[in-house]
Amino acid sequence: MTITIKPKEVEISGRFDVLVAGGGPAGIGAAVSAARGGASVMLLEKRGFLGGNITAAYVETCNWFLHGTSFSPYGLYAEIENAYRAEWGRSHDIREHAPHRFSSEYLKIFLDELMEREGVKVLFHSFVNDVVVEDGRIKALIIQTKNGPQALVSDIVIDATGDGDVAFAAGVPCKKGRDTDGYCQPGTLNFRIAGLDARYLAGHGDKLKEIGRQFEKDYLAGKTGLECRRKDLPFGRLTDGGLISYINYPCSYMIDPTSNTGLTRGEIECRRYIKQFYHYMRTHFPGFERIEIASIAPEIGFRDSRRIEGKYTLTHEDIEKGVVFADTVCVFPRMYDMLSPDGFMGGDGALSGMGYKGHIFVHIKDDDTRSFGVPYRCLLPVKTDNLLVAGRCISTTHVAESSVRAIYACMLTGQAAGTAAAIAVHSALMPEQVDAAVLRTELSRQGIITSP
Ligand SMILES: Cc1cc2nc3c(=O)[nH]c(=O)nc-3n(C[C@H](O)[C@H](O)[C@H](O)COP(=O)(O)OP(=O)(O)OC[C@H]3O[C@@H](n4cnc5c(N)ncnc54)[C@H](O)[C@@H]3O)c2cc1C
Repeated sequence: MTITIKPKEVEISGRFDVLVAGGGPAGIGAAVSAARGGASVMLLEKRGFLGGNITAAYVETCNWFLHGTSFSPYGLYAEIENAYRAEWGRSHDIREHAPHRFSSEYLKIFLDELMEREGVKVLFHSFVNDVVVEDGRIKALIIQTKNGPQALVSDIVIDATGDGDVAFAAGVPCKKGRDTDGYCQPGTLNFRIAGLDARYLAGHGDKLKEIGRQFEKDYLAGKTGLECRRKDLPFGRLTDGGLISYINYPCSYMIDPTSNTGLTRGEIECRRYIKQFYHYMRTHFPGFERIEIASIAPEIGFRDSRRIEGKYTLTHEDIEKGVVFADTVCVFPRMYDMLSPDGFMGGDGALSGMGYKGHIFVHIKDDDTRSFGVPYRCLLPVKTDNLLVAGRCISTTHVAESSVRAIYACMLTGQAAGTAAAIAVHSALMPEQVDAAVLRTELSRQGIITSP
C-alpha cells in the first residue's frame, strides 16, 4: 500500500556556496577545505555533535592502520591530530605503545571550536532526507527539523553522509555490500566500562591485549558460550580512573545500514550481546569483578553502506596493481580490513580464497611498497552535476571500500572534495569541469601526496 504526500511550500532558510551533508571525517575534511578555499560553507549534521563514527560510534582510534608502520598520516587529518594532541595530550590513555586515540567527548568540543575558527557554519539536528533536482542539478537540500522541513540552497553539494543519502535522494545509482548477496560488514555498538580494579592498572605490559588474546582462544575453542559471533576484542583507551573508553565487540550481522527495521534489530541485538559480555567479563577476568557498563555509544556504527556509482569505480585489482591515475587526489598504503558480512569466523584473512568469506585483514607492511591513489572521478557521481561525494560512500567495489573507509582516508577524500568545490565555485564550473591538474597542484600545495 502507498500514500501520496502532498507537495509543500518550504522556507529557504539559507544560501551558501557549498553545502556539506554529514559531519564525520569526510564532512570535516570537506567543510574545512572548502572554507579555506574561500567558499561560504554550511555543514549539516543530523546529530548534535561532529565526528561521525569517531565520536558517535566511539571509534576514537583513527590511524590504527598506520600504527607500528613507517607510514604517517598527512593532510588535514594529521593537522587535526597534532592540534588535538597539543591541547588534550593522550586523552588520559595509560596503555603503553598505543596508537593515538581521541577522546570522543574532548573531540566534540575541539571540532566545534575548529569549525568556528575556520569560518564553517554548522547546523546540528538537521537530517538531510530529500533534494530538489532541476536539470540534473541539486537546487535545494531538504532537512527535517522539529518545525518541519526546511530548504537550503548552494552552488555545490558535498555528500559526506557515509550512506550516500544525498546521492541516493538525487537518484544516483548506488550499490551496497557484497555483489553476491548485498550484505555489508556488521554493525557494531561500541560501549565503555568503568570500575576496573586498581591492582590491575598497576601491572606492567598491556594486559588488555593479553585479555583479547585469551578471549579469542576461548571463543575459538567454543568455551565462552557467548551468542555474538565475534572472536577478536579490540579495547580502546584505558584511563587511570579504571575506564575502558570503548570495547569494539557487539556485532550484528546481515543488517541493512539504511533500513530502520534493520537498524532497530541491530541496536537491540547488540545491547543483548553487551549484557551477556558484561556478565562474562565479571566472572572470567580477574580485576573485572566490579566493573559497570559506563555508557553505550549513541548509535550502532557501520564500516560500509551505500557506495555511489561514480565516473570511475576503484577496484581492489587497481589497488593490487598500484594503478597510477592521472587524476589521483590522495594516496594510501595498501591495506584491507573487512569484517565478515555474514559472521563466518573461518578463513585466513587473505584477500583471495576463503578470505572473502571471513574477515579479510591485510595489514600495512613496511616491506610492501604498494600504495594506491584515489582518482578524482570516484568522487563524481554519474548523475547530478553539482554533487561531489566523499568518505566511505565514494565509488569503489566492496573490497576496495575496506581500504578507503579508514578514517584518515575519508578525511582526505573530504579534503579533495572540499578543495574541488571551492575551485568550482570560484571558476563558475561544475565539479566535473574542474581541471584535475589544477586540483592536484592545489592539493600538493596543501601537503597532500598525489602520486603513489
Ligand atoms: C565499530 C567501528 C570500528 C571502526 N574502526 C576503525 C578504525 O580502527 N580505524 C579506522 O580508520 N576506521 C574504523 N572504522 C571505520 C570508520 O569509522 C568509517 O569508515 C568512517 O568513519 C567513515 O567516515 P565518513 O565521514 O565517510 O562517515 P561517518 O563517520 O559515518 O560520518 C557520517 C556523518 O554524517 C552524518 N549523517 C548521516 N546521514 C546524514 C543525513 N542524512 N543528514 C545529515 N547528517 C547525516 C552522521 O551523523 C555522521 O556524523 C570503524 C567503524 C566502526 C563502526
